[in-house]
Amino acid sequence: MLEKTLSDADNKRTEQFQYDPHRIEEKWFARWQSQPDLYKAESATSAKKKYYVLEMLPYPSGALHMGHVRNYAIGDALARYMWMTGHNVLHPMGWDAFGLPAENAAIKNNTHPRQWTLGNIANMKAQMKRLGFSYDWDTEVTTCLPDFYRWNQWFFLKFYERGLAYRKKSKVNWCPECATVLANEQVVNGCCWRHEETPVEQRDLEQWFLRITDYAQELLDYIDKLPGWPEKVRTMQRNWIGRSEGALVDFPLEGYSREKITIFTTRIDTIFGATSIQIAPEHPMARKLAENSLDLRAAIEELIAEQKRARETDDVGNIEKHGVFTGACAINPFNKEKLPIWIANYILMDYGTGAIMSVPAHDERDYEFAKKYGIDVRIVVLPRRTREPGEDGQEDEPVLPFTSMESLVINSGQFNGLSNAEAIDKMTQYAEQQGFGKRTVTFRLKDWGISRQRYWGTPIPMLYCKKDGLVPVPEKDLPVVLPENVKITLQGGSPLASLKEFVNAKCPKCGGPARRETDTMDTFVDSSWYFYRYTDAKLKNAPLDSKTISYWFPIDQYIGGVEHAILHLIYSRFWTKVMRDMGLIKNDEPVERLFTQGMVIKSGAKMSKSKGNVVSPDDMVARYGADSTRMYSLFAAPPDRDLDWQESGVEGVSRFLSRVYRFVLKHADRARSASAKGAAASSGVARQLDRKLHQTIRKITTDFDGRWHFNTSIAAIMELVNALYAADEQITNGTIPAAQVANTLRTVVLLLGPFAPYVAAELWETLGYKSVLLREAWPKFDPELAKEDEIEIPIQINGKTRSHIMIALGTPDEKVRELALADEKIKAAIKGKQIVRVIVVPNKLVNIVVK
Ligand SMILES: [Zn+2]
Ligand SMILES: [Zn+2]
Repeated sequence: MLEKTLSDADNKRTEQFQYDPHRIEEKWFARWQSQPDLYKAESATSAKKKYYVLEMLPYPSGALHMGHVRNYAIGDALARYMWMTGHNVLHPMGWDAFGLPAENAAIKNNTHPRQWTLGNIANMKAQMKRLGFSYDWDTEVTTCLPDFYRWNQWFFLKFYERGLAYRKKSKVNWCPECATVLANEQVVNGCCWRHEETPVEQRDLEQWFLRITDYAQELLDYIDKLPGWPEKVRTMQRNWIGRSEGALVDFPLEGYSREKITIFTTRIDTIFGATSIQIAPEHPMARKLAENSLDLRAAIEELIAEQKRARETDDVGNIEKHGVFTGACAINPFNKEKLPIWIANYILMDYGTGAIMSVPAHDERDYEFAKKYGIDVRIVVLPRRTREPGEDGQEDEPVLPFTSMESLVINSGQFNGLSNAEAIDKMTQYAEQQGFGKRTVTFRLKDWGISRQRYWGTPIPMLYCKKDGLVPVPEKDLPVVLPENVKITLQGGSPLASLKEFVNAKCPKCGGPARRETDTMDTFVDSSWYFYRYTDAKLKNAPLDSKTISYWFPIDQYIGGVEHAILHLIYSRFWTKVMRDMGLIKNDEPVERLFTQGMVIKSGAKMSKSKGNVVSPDDMVARYGADSTRMYSLFAAPPDRDLDWQESGVEGVSRFLSRVYRFVLKHADRARSASAKGAAASSGVARQLDRKLHQTIRKITTDFDGRWHFNTSIAAIMELVNALYAADEQITNGTIPAAQVANTLRTVVLLLGPFAPYVAAELWETLGYKSVLLREAWPKFDPELAKEDEIEIPIQINGKTRSHIMIALGTPDEKVRELALADEKIKAAIKGKQIVRVIVVPNKLVNIVVK
């Protein structure tokens, strides 16, 4: 009878020890829901050190994907770690809620974009909460709501006042699928960034632009002041801004008194070697020269069409170069030589001036072109002589094309003998004095076209009055609210244009009738400054509070995908600089440190609906719980690498959490009976366990403060748990004192907190703690205790590792040599061979050279 009772109790106990993520997570989910202030930051007057951790806000497409989960799991682990290390943490979330997909969905599902968007937000927010992410929802920002987008309009007016917003007719990139204009940055390989197969067309339209080029130099200079950004992103931004220093030189047209072609060159030092002029097919001079030639006109059309096709498939720089001679010539102003004018397929009208001087001897592309058409090649730069003094002989003929800048100029009249750098300086000066040229800097970066002919975006707050022309909407009339009752089609421009009650307005200047601007803003406007709004999301009379911003900015850590390296991350840097110049904020840059996580892939490809390899976070949570899903996304790969999703891996993490759970429950009584403080390890095995504990704390702390290799952090916790299991008997029989058990289990749970918050909270309570885990101090390690007194070193034979031995740190070389040669595997491997020598690298390795 007694036995039976016992076994029932045992069964009950085993059942209790069973890790049930759903029971645990539902319990804590409910509890956390009732504590809305749990993740609230303290005010900007807090004495604590601030930490602003931010993940890029998602587009509310309807459901989170694994890429999101990974991004947010990284940010969440960091936020929790920062809380536990005593920081005042701001960890917000919001929605990049304007944009075309809402309109497409509206047509497809016959809903309103607003309804579709807000429904998706509700769904994704619920997913985020269920995953246990530590966002302060009080600071939520939703860009499609008037309390946010009114400030887009306010900023637009400020930009307009400062001459930074302007309207001009221009050739624009038009995606026929989107039925809207795209920024240059949204054209990828000649196609739309959303429709990778749809070639972008060129159209002439009146557009609104933001003058980002005014800040090109500063945007470039400050890249050097962002050491916390990945080098890859900094390089991409430098290339995108694309600064080149050079000169503009006018080449008069032969036979015309006033016509000239202005070329841009970075190598004016080679101008005496120019043997032709090349212009873009769309250059105005091309059309002029073709006025009387049907053939030439046809050839130009053909070249234009070819460039268009090239833009669709590849970089124009890579196409096979060819062109057509116009029959006309231009005069080199330096030596009065006549140079034939060609129209070439590889010269683009939107780079430089759309015209170059061709110097085949010293430029790769020019050389290729000249060889093809038999154009003269004239050497004007020679390698510096390397002969001894007094040694005679011919000058070294350079291998063509010779493009080095470390050389001398020849065949260049008065400039002969100068170094290239001197020649650039002197020749530019000469051109300026003579009035046919000037020093210049060009940028590849173009002004930011923000006009979109779409409905679901921020209305641009401008009016057109017959009498007064362009009139800004007065600040007091903001927001210009996006009307609800609109018919959305994807044809024929903006849906707003057909809405009379929206279009027809009163001119604030003369009171007469005015027409309202119907373009809406690029959604990259929203994301350029949304993170400022988080600091005071409900502020009524201003977009932000300057004092609060001075406390929170710059953002300490921003985390998101590298695909935003040149769009969002250049625009938001630009916006910050304008805000600073307006006197709104003091920081020069928005983001101190940037982290770009790798992609989540499955079966070798990025997860996508079309590939059918999407893993739904909801499914994973239903099967394994939020903790395992999140923890796996951190464990499976270093955060900056691609992660190949394996469900067996999630299962493995779940088994690990189950192991931790069972172990803590088994020894919880013992741990609760003692104070975790003053735990001193006495026996050898206790000391060993303590060392492992301190090593684990050290490892994870260094990972958080450094390289974020959370995969190895988690692996270290796993090893620690293995060590605990190995010491199970000594824990049970008291060889390891209860106080040490209490301290160890407590620490394990604290270390799990940033990675698996649900089970950590549950175990924290199990250990008898009433406090909120997030407010507990991060465990400290004792460097002395963490010191390894034995290490494992490899033994090599002829440089190849054959075995490993354990040695005490600082063992004398002679002893190490002895131990190595006594190793069984080594003995077998060198049997019958002659030992030439044994090299001992202290505390590192032994290499035995044999023959
Ligand atoms: Zn498109
Ligand atoms: Zn008027």
